Amino acid sequence: MPRSDFDITIIGAGVVGLAIASYLSVRRKGASILLLERNAKYGMETSSRNSEVIHAGMYYEAGSLKARLCVEGRDVLYALCRENGIAHRQISKIIVARAQNELPKLETVFKRGIVNSAGVRMLDRAETLALEPHVEAVASIYSPLTGILSVHELMDWFYRSAIQNGVIVQQRCEVTGVERCADGYRLTLTEPDGESTATSEIVINAAGLFSDRIAAMAGIDIDAAGYRISFCKGSYFSVASGKSKLLTRLVYPVPGNEFLGVHALFDLAGRLRFGPDVEYMRENVLDYSVDESKRDAFLQSIRRILPSVESTDIAPDICGIRPKLQTQGSQARDFVIVHEKERGLEGFVNLIGIESPGVTASPATAQYVHDLLW
Ligand SMILES: Cc1cc2nc3c(=O)[nH]c(=O)nc-3n(C[C@H](O)[C@H](O)[C@H](O)COP(=O)(O)OP(=O)(O)OC[C@H]3O[C@@H](n4cnc5c(N)ncnc54)[C@H](O)[C@@H]3O)c2cc1C
Repeated sequence: MPRSDFDITIIGAGVVGLAIASYLSVRRKGASILLLERNAKYGMETSSRNSEVIHAGMYYEAGSLKARLCVEGRDVLYALCRENGIAHRQISKIIVARAQNELPKLETVFKRGIVNSAGVRMLDRAETLALEPHVEAVASIYSPLTGILSVHELMDWFYRSAIQNGVIVQQRCEVTGVERCADGYRLTLTEPDGESTATSEIVINAAGLFSDRIAAMAGIDIDAAGYRISFCKGSYFSVASGKSKLLTRLVYPVPGNEFLGVHALFDLAGRLRFGPDVEYMRENVLDYSVDESKRDAFLQSIRRILPSVESTDIAPDICGIRPKLQTQGSQARDFVIVHEKERGLEGFVNLIGIESPGVTASPATAQYVHDLLW
């Protein structure tokens, strides 16, 4: 009976691949687990370019994987942060309606929040002003379960726990081929010093922005399957420290149809930034430049929340790229997390379109992947 080199191989060491490696190293004790990352270090792509918000779960359609894994992940994440000294703060947030005509949309988000167990409350104008005196609103949703965290510290923790439990992490190692073989899958690995192969009984594709390419390598027609990813950039502008004192928690506008709207975010050092906006990219390339010409559009969005901010108070900051399963203007899609048995790919799991709330959901996603396989 042929025996593969590894029992389990995870492709991609972002927060999701790391969470899976850490979780499986405990639940599948004794299994040989390989985690592959093409960059020099884990977590250098989307997982280090995001808002670092622990989402409470009010935005996602009830019953969707996004809603379920966000809410389950949120609670596990807070416990993980508390128990392991991972920097975080349950800072809370409000979603503000600035005019009467925004109230129906606010109500829709509120109802979703109730159904999803997001722990939200509706506030009137006076209650909103009492929390945030510089924000003008006719009403708001208060979310005490929203927080912020250091995603780097979270990834460091997942990495250490995986290594301690025997996971082999190979960095600077890109998967460039996936082939079905008698004992599972034969992976072609491209490293700085050449090409090699490794076989694995189980393969988990957590390759983020490039997860559709991995699925295609495994022989899936990604257009027919609805797995093709569109890159969608989200840029941020930071606000000068004097003005950052005007808010005390995260403040979001009423969401549009396609995204949450440019909102006010704090990092753990107390720095205020606004973003991310939405820019579908013409090509799927890792272009992390932030376009200075967005200044006026950002200023307009920022002033809807903090009217006293001037153009000279803001500066281009970071950006991240969302792996969107939908194209611009089309219906939002749920996470794809599938054991591809029905395509004849026993033991092959795809995670595709893991955009927000992917960080929040990461611990619950790991458990979900485990339960798909065993
Ligand atoms: C602007 C923005 C804001 C966001 N804000 C939040 C937020 O506040 N809260 C939240 O919960 N979520 C947020 N998200 C979503 C969150 O960042 C992602 O869902 C999460 O980081 C995805 O993690 P991942 O591990 O799937 O992907 P990634 O971090 O992209 O990791 C995938 C890894 O796979 C590797 N890889 C790719 N191809 C190969 C290959 N062939 N061989 C080997 N390795 C490969 C890559 O190098 C990469 O390291 C945000 C996302 C964006 C873009």
